[in-house]
Amino acid sequence: MNEQMKALVLRDGKAVVESRPVPQAGPGEVVVRTTAASLCSADVACVGGEFPTPDGTVLGHEAVGVVHEIGDGVTGFAVGQRVTTASTTPCGQCANCQRGFTGHCGGVAWGGYTFGVSRDGSLAEYFTVPHASYNLVAIPDAVSDEAAVCVPDTLSSGSTGPEAARIPLGGTVVVFGQGHVGLAATMAARALGAGLVVTVKARPGGEEQAKRVGADRALNLAEHDIESEIRQLTAGVGADCAVEASGVIESFPRAVAVVREGGVVAVLSSYSGPDDATLPIPLAQWGWGIADKTILSTFQRCGSERMGRLLRLVETGRVDPTVLLTRRYRFDDVERAFADTAARMPGHIKPLITF
Ligand SMILES: [Zn+2]
Ligand SMILES: [Zn+2]
Repeated sequence: MNEQMKALVLRDGKAVVESRPVPQAGPGEVVVRTTAASLCSADVACVGGEFPTPDGTVLGHEAVGVVHEIGDGVTGFAVGQRVTTASTTPCGQCANCQRGFTGHCGGVAWGGYTFGVSRDGSLAEYFTVPHASYNLVAIPDAVSDEAAVCVPDTLSSGSTGPEAARIPLGGTVVVFGQGHVGLAATMAARALGAGLVVTVKARPGGEEQAKRVGADRALNLAEHDIESEIRQLTAGVGADCAVEASGVIESFPRAVAVVREGGVVAVLSSYSGPDDATLPIPLAQWGWGIADKTILSTFQRCGSERMGRLLRLVETGRVDPTVLLTRRYRFDDVERAFADTAARMPGHIKPLITF
């Protein structure tokens, strides 16, 4: 019964491959046999002690596979079917989930973010999806594993900002940060009908990548006066929306400054710092009367209905997230994949890990 599998585990401050028993599906759960996965800066943060991941936890939250075992109470799926889940796996039933705030599932910190934090993650030959009726989604036949693996975190997290900001058709959007989430936000802003998408990053480089996913202009703080360039690009009025995906505190007042009166700042970053750290916004950045600006702090929107919509975008070719997969590895080589991601190799966005 105790069949074994390989998993990438947090062990003594390192990411190491260990043998584990293949999980069994409890009530409401589905066990998935993994066929492709990716990893990201959040996995590096788990290993670096920035997240409350206990020693011995399986890492990872971006994976696709086929249904291996279906727990009691889960209907609508069949063994062998291709599936995935968003990287956050909330219950879908508590008060915060019903109110649409699944990132705060259960009213606790890290509520919906369980994989690799409060339960075993998906960088393993098999993984367990909790609350599968809410979280598990079938992958359309026309969507490859390679494309689908970009949906659980990259596309779902990145698109949450532009979607929450309700960009007016033809409106202007500035995306701060061009890591995988910022690049996906750029892609989503374009797909949601933005008329002008401007990206901002700290240093030169990556302009081609930004333009490839939908940026019209790719700026950087080292070479450009961002506020003045955006004013010029928007005939002096500012952008309709800014998406803050850089994770850098100093970027927050810049995002507030570049949006026009009544504009929206959608914050995808989870800033970290000491308990007395603050997010300052000088009055000049707001504008007179706080300028009717709205600040939304948005955590990844998830659940099978939303994942289905994102997979449809990929299926019909509206977005192609595979351009973000910059390196390929077999799962046997996952420790090297992790080291390469942790080293922040120039030009490397996301690894594709196949099983
Ligand atoms: Zn991730
Ligand atoms: Zn919940």
